[in-house]
Amino acid sequence: MKTRGPKNPNKVLLYYCIGALVALLVFNWLVFPQMMRGAVTEVTYNQFLSDLDAGSVVAVEEDSSKGTITYQIKDENGRDRICQTAIVNDPDRVDRILASTGPDGQAVQYGGVVPTQASPAMNLLFGVVLPIIIMVAAGQLLMRYMSKKMGGPNAMSFGKSNAKVYVEAQTGKTFADVAGQDEAKEALAEIVDFLHNPGKYNSIGATLPKGALLVGPPGTGKTLLAKAVAGEAHVPFFSISGSEFVEMFVGMGAARVRDLFRQAAQKAPCIVFIDEIDTIGKSRDGAGGIGGNDEREQTLNQLLTEMDGFDGSKGVIILAATNRPETLDKALLRPGRFDRRIPVELPDLEGRAAILKVHAKKVMMDENVDFMAIARATSGASGAELANMINEAALLAVKNGRRIVRQSDLEEAVETVIAGYQRKNKVLSQREKRIVAYHEIGHALVAARQTDSAPVTKITIVPRTSGALGYTMQVPQEETNLLSREEALNKIATFTGGRAAEELIFGSYTSGASGDIEQATRLARSMVTRLGMSRQFDMMALETTAGKYLNADSTLACSEGTAEKIDEEVLAIIKSAHEKAINILKENIDKLHELAAFLMERESITGEEFMGILNREPSPAPAAQNGQ
Ligand code: ADP
Ligand code: MG
Ligand code: ZN
Repeated sequence: MKTRGPKNPNKVLLYYCIGALVALLVFNWLVFPQMMRGAVTEVTYNQFLSDLDAGSVVAVEEDSSKGTITYQIKDENGRDRICQTAIVNDPDRVDRILASTGPDGQAVQYGGVVPTQASPAMNLLFGVVLPIIIMVAAGQLLMRYMSKKMGGPNAMSFGKSNAKVYVEAQTGKTFADVAGQDEAKEALAEIVDFLHNPGKYNSIGATLPKGALLVGPPGTGKTLLAKAVAGEAHVPFFSISGSEFVEMFVGMGAARVRDLFRQAAQKAPCIVFIDEIDTIGKSRDGAGGIGGNDEREQTLNQLLTEMDGFDGSKGVIILAATNRPETLDKALLRPGRFDRRIPVELPDLEGRAAILKVHAKKVMMDENVDFMAIARATSGASGAELANMINEAALLAVKNGRRIVRQSDLEEAVETVIAGYQRKNKVLSQREKRIVAYHEIGHALVAARQTDSAPVTKITIVPRTSGALGYTMQVPQEETNLLSREEALNKIATFTGGRAAEELIFGSYTSGASGDIEQATRLARSMVTRLGMSRQFDMMALETTAGKYLNADSTLACSEGTAEKIDEEVLAIIKSAHEKAINILKENIDKLHELAAFLMERESITGEEFMGILNREPSPAPAAQNGQ
């Protein structure tokens, strides 16, 4: 946000005071003209009579409503003066004035002011009410001006949502501006389609999710995607950042939410985008702290109420973005609210090259720049960082007096920008990348070589939002509710596959398997204590559980001696699974190398690509099934 501080608020206030004073004077001059036409001398009635007798009076004006006589005289030096006196009950006055002559010997001009024209009410209106209105209006203008200068919400905009309304022409972004992120784009395209032809969905009785949550690390293009949706959908787009809800007065945030949704309902179909929703949507429990965070909580509650309150078929779609999904309140993620989650992850090799190309269009680029080479050198960089690199490169070209950007500029820019984020420890070194690649392929290979294991759908070594360095996504082909002993053992073997590959190839261990260890142990333990899958304990329940789900809290309910035996059994299960994994990998060592090299090169690999390589040429026979 462009937050320009006010240059000097005190100065502005001073200008305001001076301005108001001038306005008041001008106003007075208009309403009471004679008062201002020159200095008016107050004189006694006697003086008036003697001036009249002396023949210096030119004109007399009586105002009975004010009780004044104002007259003009020409003094000895021939200058005009205005004098004023009070009307005295003098029956001769009229005759005397009419009988008098002025300095030039002509009759004195004599007249009065008709009092009905300026009734007391009009006087009040013009003299008091109008100036007040003018001053208040000027004050409002000033406040608005000051708050704009300060760039933030202010005390005077009581509960207005401040949401910026973009129309298509204004965001100017389309999906073409977002490179990579194909999965996210696909999910959002559905929303765009709904806004285009709501009838298609309504006629079949389908309702789209009310809200979708864009989740991903900073700079991956979440805000950009939301703007692109608005650009594609040709509907009004309300954009507001979570931090703008947090107001200086308690209750204002909630009022803003209400206002935002009221506006949105009027403009439907439209999109409401709440950027950085974690600022208001933080989990409510455990917030604690003195004073708590009532304000934020109220705002969140209002948001939940509004989301429940409106009818999804009207075509108001709420998008939100966050890079800290884990801090969000569970209530926000409930069905009917932000039930759809759209991951926006860091780009892989292809994605990075595409992003570089999109941004390179905006600068003069040498034709034979190799974007792939740059992409290869920037693993772990976000879209924002890549955009920044292009810009840095352009700046370098200018600095070197060139009109087009060359490969060397880009290479130098990569170094400057990477230096910035390497400190954040996001980029994997080449060696780490190798380890992670073998680790992930290890999981996948063990999974694929066991008949009962689900096939791999995607493997990536791009660091994930969750903090995992690599990721193997296994989706069961069909929903399985029953877990056989065989399947459970295979799963455990798959969990150990990552570490097994590391051992086999590098002969050393890394901390990368901590998550696997936890999962393998949990499963092995529940096999023994709850699922009756161990030989030793048969169908004896060894645990009481608080919940009915697999990973609910549970406590051991057995003697100490039994606990020891349980540990032995769990260890035996894991050990044999580990051995099995090592054997599978040993038998498929060529494929392990081949697949790991491919993954290192491409950074992510789909299930089909994986299976393609695995089945490309006759490979060693599948591992023996020894489910022990
Ligand atoms: P986020 O909201 O996820 O933190 P932004 O949407 O603000 O990230 O992205 C910042 C900038 O980075 C964008 O304006 C754009 O220039 C660039 N950028 C990020 N991701 C992409 C992408 N996938 N394709 C093109 N540009 C991108
Ligand atoms: Mg953003
Ligand atoms: Zn692992």
